[in-house]
Amino acid sequence: MFKTIKALVLREVRYKEADRILTLLSAEEGKLTAKARGALRKSSRTGAATQQLTYAEMTLFANKGKWTVNEASVLEGFDGLRTDLEAFALGSYFAECLEALSVEDEPDAELMQLGLNSLYALSRGLCEARLIKAAFELRLMCLSGYAPDLTACACCGGEPRDPVFHPSDGRVYCRTCPHGGGTLPLGGEALAAMRYISSAPAKKLLSFSLGDEGASALAAVAESYLLRQTERRFGTLDYYKQVRLQNIE
Ligand SMILES: [Zn+2]
Repeated sequence: MFKTIKALVLREVRYKEADRILTLLSAEEGKLTAKARGALRKSSRTGAATQQLTYAEMTLFANKGKWTVNEASVLEGFDGLRTDLEAFALGSYFAECLEALSVEDEPDAELMQLGLNSLYALSRGLCEARLIKAAFELRLMCLSGYAPDLTACACCGGEPRDPVFHPSDGRVYCRTCPHGGGTLPLGGEALAAMRYISSAPAKKLLSFSLGDEGASALAAVAESYLLRQTERRFGTLDYYKQVRLQNIE
């Protein structure tokens, strides 16, 4: 049986001499694994379209529940990521997050769109990388059933004064209201940005602006929230931070 899908290559692993095993995210099928035979050969017709962080149209052949890539052509190569190691490392982290939070056989068009839009923004440098990262992390949490409760202070019920965020319970508090510790400073500007990211239309996700202090607070809170809620480490995030540090030094 043949099937044509549009898929983002989240991960590629070399297999045998010249094959690739791909982890794909598609709007039609959700997450799936497919083999691309001979994709690493120079003459391969599927080589370019089966590289990590490529969005491609693929014709897959199914046999006994296993998928093989028959044909593939690039729809969006995110070329800006391939010439910038730091951006590529961050894109790989996005891909690892998408792999962790997507489900096999469960198509999720919003998740797919978030992944593609975020990689596109990163590839074109449409916005500061730390803001693209924070918006991606927070929106991903919202789409995956971990939306934080940002409506009011979880203690006094009022509009939070000098707000702080609790990454474990996903709530905001006034800095002076009792909240049991473990919170991160948020501030009013970053709270407004979090509210925006949680509810903005997908295409306008990055249409917010923040001062330097607000951006730092948002970045710290979004990353910490994702790590706390998923309760796992992301090897690609550690790598991204290493690359960033080297670029700063
Ligand atoms: Zn309060």
